[in-house]
Amino acid sequence: MASISGKNVLDNNYRIVHDEDYVYFPLIEGTEINDETVSMVPEENRRKPSPKGHSGAFDVIGDIAIIRERKDGNTQKIVEFIANTIKHIRTIYLDHGVTGEFRLRDLEFLHGDDNPETIHRENGISLWMNVKKAYFSPRLATERMIISSRVKENEKILDMFSGVGSFTITIMKNRNVDVVALDINPEAIKALEKNYIINKINGKLSARICDSWSEIKNIRGMDRIIMNNPTSRKIDFDSIRNALKKNGLVNFYEINDVEGIAERMSAFTNEGFMPIDKRIVHGYSKTSSMVAMEFRRVEE
Ligand code: SAM
Repeated sequence: MASISGKNVLDNNYRIVHDEDYVYFPLIEGTEINDETVSMVPEENRRKPSPKGHSGAFDVIGDIAIIRERKDGNTQKIVEFIANTIKHIRTIYLDHGVTGEFRLRDLEFLHGDDNPETIHRENGISLWMNVKKAYFSPRLATERMIISSRVKENEKILDMFSGVGSFTITIMKNRNVDVVALDINPEAIKALEKNYIINKINGKLSARICDSWSEIKNIRGMDRIIMNNPTSRKIDFDSIRNALKKNGLVNFYEINDVEGIAERMSAFTNEGFMPIDKRIVHGYSKTSSMVAMEFRRVEE
């Protein structure tokens, strides 16, 4: 926190901005400072209002806002906030939770037009989806960009739980790679195939509706396996090892507490996978987080 003589002098109503030469800190009016590089804070740097006390209470997917179920009775206030401030929102749903093998959201219609189909834009791609029929989380956008930036040209990639193609399409848009994308939900694969076309991708994609743990037994020679089904605890290490080339990589996601993540890291290590990276993608509950882990297959 910026302070002078122990007093906070930052005006939190404005954003901290920068240009090529300087970082500009918005100071509370009247702050005395012995510096010649002081300038007026432009009004365009004012932060957008957020619903007080409810930040992070909803996700925006395309022109749909999805409010997470809450016990404090403030749902209606959040609906009004969204309807009044986020102009491009067409539909608002209340999310009663994600369930089942397909990880579908139980959505209650609250406001606007009850049409669950939308096109979400992130990282320069467009993802078409029906939010009632296939799972998608906008909170992994940065993670998808990180993985995409680490992928090398001509990699062979297995996306084991592809959903509508959020990882697959981001990577294929940025790199010339071959991808095998698997999902047990036919609606997810339908969306993925549509997204391949919408985004004008040229690389080779094989999209299959199947149980990944059965299908992986037929797959060999992968440079990278992406496993983003973070609430599932199932792992078949032999199948992953057999599907990967030596030195191939695994990008594994899990929602768990600190001990659970440490156990997972040890389990991979004991199975001959070297930990390369571990980072928190986002918080999930008071005790657990969504964690990204990366491993390299090292043993013969
Ligand atoms: N990776 C996608 C993303 O980030 O948008 C989707 C993640 S979603 C949490 C998990 C996906 O795994 C769902 O689309 C679900 O249908 C799929 N799934 C769950 N169990 C599966 C299995 N045994 N085989 C193939 N897909 C499965």
